Amino acid sequence: MTAPRTITILGATGSIGTSTLDLIQCNAGQFDVIALTAQSDVAGLAKAARAVHARHAVIGDEARLLELRAALVGTTTTTAGGAAAIVEVAQMGADYTMAAIVGCAGLRPVMAALAGGKTVALANKEALVSAGDLMIAAARASGATLLPVDSEHNAIFQCLAGNSLDSVSKIILTASGGPFRTLSLADMAHLTPAQAVKHPNWSMGAKISVDSATMMNKGLELIEAHHLFPVGADKLDILVHPQSIIHSMVEYVDGSVLAQMGAPDMRTPIAHTLAWPARMESPSPRLNLAEIGRLDFEAPDPARFPALRLARAALDAGGAAPAVLNAANEVAVAAFLAGSIGFLEIAARVDAVLARVALAAPDSLEDVLAIDAEARLSARDLNEKVTA
Ligand code: NAD
Ligand code: MG
Repeated sequence: MTAPRTITILGATGSIGTSTLDLIQCNAGQFDVIALTAQSDVAGLAKAARAVHARHAVIGDEARLLELRAALVGTTTTTAGGAAAIVEVAQMGADYTMAAIVGCAGLRPVMAALAGGKTVALANKEALVSAGDLMIAAARASGATLLPVDSEHNAIFQCLAGNSLDSVSKIILTASGGPFRTLSLADMAHLTPAQAVKHPNWSMGAKISVDSATMMNKGLELIEAHHLFPVGADKLDILVHPQSIIHSMVEYVDGSVLAQMGAPDMRTPIAHTLAWPARMESPSPRLNLAEIGRLDFEAPDPARFPALRLARAALDAGGAAPAVLNAANEVAVAAFLAGSIGFLEIAARVDAVLARVALAAPDSLEDVLAIDAEARLSARDLNEKVTA
């Protein structure tokens, strides 16, 4: 019998984090949990740490450390608090790290995990959008294996197996189109956060659910794909496929198109990364194509979903633009969720910040974090001006 693989989950209490924990518990004995982290959900973190006998539990909000300690009394799990403590556990050298923090807040921990030269499964797309070149270079330098968790990128990775990127003529990212796929712009103006987070196919955290509704999620994924599969931006296409059964496709120079399919359940791509290059059991539902009956496709509509255009422009501009796009979007989505701006204002804010903030291309992690901070300031400043 082989020894269990050591694993750390950054963002263990979120949607991806809990799906990962579910798989670990379904495959008992195969994993030895080094660390679990969360930002503020002490109860969720403590429960997970007890369930998988984590060696360390870290809460990002330091003010909650005492509460975490109390919740873990009687266990052997050590506790720590604060952003630096998350980075510390990320660099403990786990065989597999699940990067599932939401937002650019996950960038430092991901970079710390990549430096260890082991396997990093990446769900945290915002980190890659903001610091793509640096992350890919860090993985190369340490020999780390970066596995995509995002369902589209995981699908592309599977469709590419055994083929050279040179033989790819197109990568087709599928998009559900989100909950507002068929709405007019006039109807979108009055949408509430509760409507935006209700995704038709997937159950996800609030931020990515809003991103799916604006289709900025697909925009971020375009930039993510550019870094993970460098075939050239002109070979990256987006296709709306409302059923979310085909998770993405790769077209080859001979005309063959390979697609990866599955029920819309993130435990499938997560299980793929946990077992890679082998396969493991997952409790996700099986696909019943006879029941589904048909698969539909349509071209995305950039007029109703301007986020697609903004992300494509940021990808083409390169340099600081993707980090600015991401930071402005994070601030705008938070403002929308807090009820202080309307749904259509999200993309409008990102557009305005991209026009205002012109910064040099980042050369280091500190550069990216400075760009991120500057763009956030600009986005908040715009929020205040509009709401004042
Ligand atoms: P979520 O909001 O459900 O969970 C986020 C996790 O990050 C939580 O554990 C939270 O405690 C932690 N966190 C939040 N802010 C933090 C901070 N400032 N510092 C440290 N930790 C922090 O989000 P999610 O839906 O699980 O998504 C996580 C990431 O995976 C996102 O980047 C998202 O785009 C990506 N992703 C999610 C899905 C999905 O189905 N949920 C699919 C593809 C990609
Ligand atoms: Mg996705």
